[in-house]
Amino acid sequence: MIYKILLMGPQGCGKGTQAEILSQSLHIPALSMGQLLRDEIAAGTDLGKKFDVILKRGDLVSDQDAAMMLKRRLEKSDAKRGYIIDGYPRNLSQWKAFDFDTPTHVIVIDVPREESLKRLGGRLTCRACNKVGSTSGLKAGSAFGGKDGIRAGDLCPCGGQWYQRDDDTPEAITRRLEIYENDTQPVIEKYGGIVKRVDGIGSVAEVADRIKKVL
Ligand SMILES: [Zn+2]
Repeated sequence: MIYKILLMGPQGCGKGTQAEILSQSLHIPALSMGQLLRDEIAAGTDLGKKFDVILKRGDLVSDQDAAMMLKRRLEKSDAKRGYIIDGYPRNLSQWKAFDFDTPTHVIVIDVPREESLKRLGGRLTCRACNKVGSTSGLKAGSAFGGKDGIRAGDLCPCGGQWYQRDDDTPEAITRRLEIYENDTQPVIEKYGGIVKRVDGIGSVAEVADRIKKVL
């Protein structure tokens, strides 16, 4: 069985953590477009150099170029037996550009808007290692596989400092959730019959178990 999995869901649903868990249990790579972009730039390929110029200018990489980068990545040997892509395609234009392959599963981790807001509002990021955790009482850290009960300014085990990213303010979170509802829901509808919805409320292990059941 080849698993070509798209993992979708609103910000704060824990899809990054679940992608890692699936990657380990299925022995296939977990990919995200943001990481692929950073890797491409770091590798200094022609495409990477082009992206570097575009991003430094403050512009966005085109959906066609991003899809081309993904296509090349999926041709590598470790992806021959399948892959998990976290949070892509995000809108219908990206969906159209992703026309060179057909996923076998689209898994949507459902989390109500209030829960996303609660989790992300308490989310802290380590300045040094980029790990995520959460402030006390919210248990968001467990949803992200990170640490709970920390405060901004505390030190991460790596020695870095926990802080709240600008895009984790309530206004920024609400805006991202609206974009998800307006732009990503139509993509999910396009995939129709291969879409499986999973309840994202609960511990990392509980959600991982639900995902396993729909595969
Ligand atoms: Zn750290």
